[in-house]
Amino acid sequence: MVTIQVDRLIDFVGDIFAHADSEQAEATRIATYLTTANLTGHDSHGVIRVPVYMRWRKAGMIVPNQTIEIPVDTPSLAVVDGKFGYGQTVGPQAVKLGIDKCKAAGLAAIATRNSGHIGRIGDWAEMAAAEGLVSIHFVTAAGSVLVAPYGGVERRLSTAPYCVGIPRPGQAPVVLDFATSVVAEGKVLVASRGGKKLPKGALIGLDGTLSEDPAQPYGPYAADGPRDHSKGTGAIRAFGDHKGSGLALICELLGGALTGNGATKYDRPFANGMFSIYIDPKVIDPSNFFDGEVTRYIDFFRSTKPAAGVDAVLVPGDPEAATRAERTKNGVPLPDETWSAIVQTAREVGVSEAAIQHAGI
Ligand code: NAD
Repeated sequence: MVTIQVDRLIDFVGDIFAHADSEQAEATRIATYLTTANLTGHDSHGVIRVPVYMRWRKAGMIVPNQTIEIPVDTPSLAVVDGKFGYGQTVGPQAVKLGIDKCKAAGLAAIATRNSGHIGRIGDWAEMAAAEGLVSIHFVTAAGSVLVAPYGGVERRLSTAPYCVGIPRPGQAPVVLDFATSVVAEGKVLVASRGGKKLPKGALIGLDGTLSEDPAQPYGPYAADGPRDHSKGTGAIRAFGDHKGSGLALICELLGGALTGNGATKYDRPFANGMFSIYIDPKVIDPSNFFDGEVTRYIDFFRSTKPAAGVDAVLVPGDPEAATRAERTKNGVPLPDETWSAIVQTAREVGVSEAAIQHAGI
């Protein structure tokens, strides 16, 4: 395990993208969002993605320095076409548009299509919450068919994340943000690279056998070689039985069909589609009942006696805030395999040995 200080990690990862055709602003932005995923404890969506993003860029599946198009634009609704730009470039533009429209109209919806990997959806809920807005996001990771629906063994869904953000004045927002599969694909990736192991029965084989072995979805792989989920046959299971599987379906239909992105299927390039709704609580509620009631209810929620073996009942967003505080102070831990795959990628795009040595210290 290596531990890298936050600023050095952002500089180093930014350097990789700057050597791969991204303008410096984009390179730094990608590096900052990826590092933030590590900071919040979601290593699955952090810098482990660097080699994958580079492969996608080389294959032309992702386009550096892309500017969004807005083919539909009404006072409260817009369609954003990300034209396969990096999600870290498309995401902030789409969310900013939603925030601006919501502030003007009280309610807004943004249908984002053809975005490169848009990362941790909680970033977008946090961005809206920082402006005092509630937001709800339904997402497809189209082209990444990995998840078996409830009762099935074959892949039919993406890990289709769902996210809701609730602002709280003077405090971190409530952010519920999860893949609708037992684990996000990134967690399979992390486990395959020597990180945290998968929970029992997270995966299912074509014969219905439950498993935790990343080789099931990826097929056999070399330690520092690529992971390609088209090489395996198994699936990740949808979470929450019929209810989670149903929510996953809704994410595919809203994030995929309603946005024009297309829901997930095998023969298509990867693209995140995201249907986002933004609500201004101050327009619904000029007397500001909302803020006080959120506080009262969260205190009531937390006050339950914890079950045996549980320290405290947490609110969504708490684990991320705690990990962010700890890692900001102490640095980001990365398994050796993850770090060496990133360093190898840096060498491939021409980052200097001096910069590599500097980052790792
Ligand atoms: P997860 O299983 O870690 O769940 C995270 C959510 O649960 C957070 O809201 C967190 O605050 C909450 N939580 C965790 N422990 C808790 C506790 N003890 N009490 C109360 N709440 C708790 O998340 P995941 O499913 O592994 O997803 C990880 C990330 O992957 C998410 O940020 C998601 O947006 C992202 N993702 C992105 C894509 C994409 O295509 N861009 C696809 C899938 C997932």
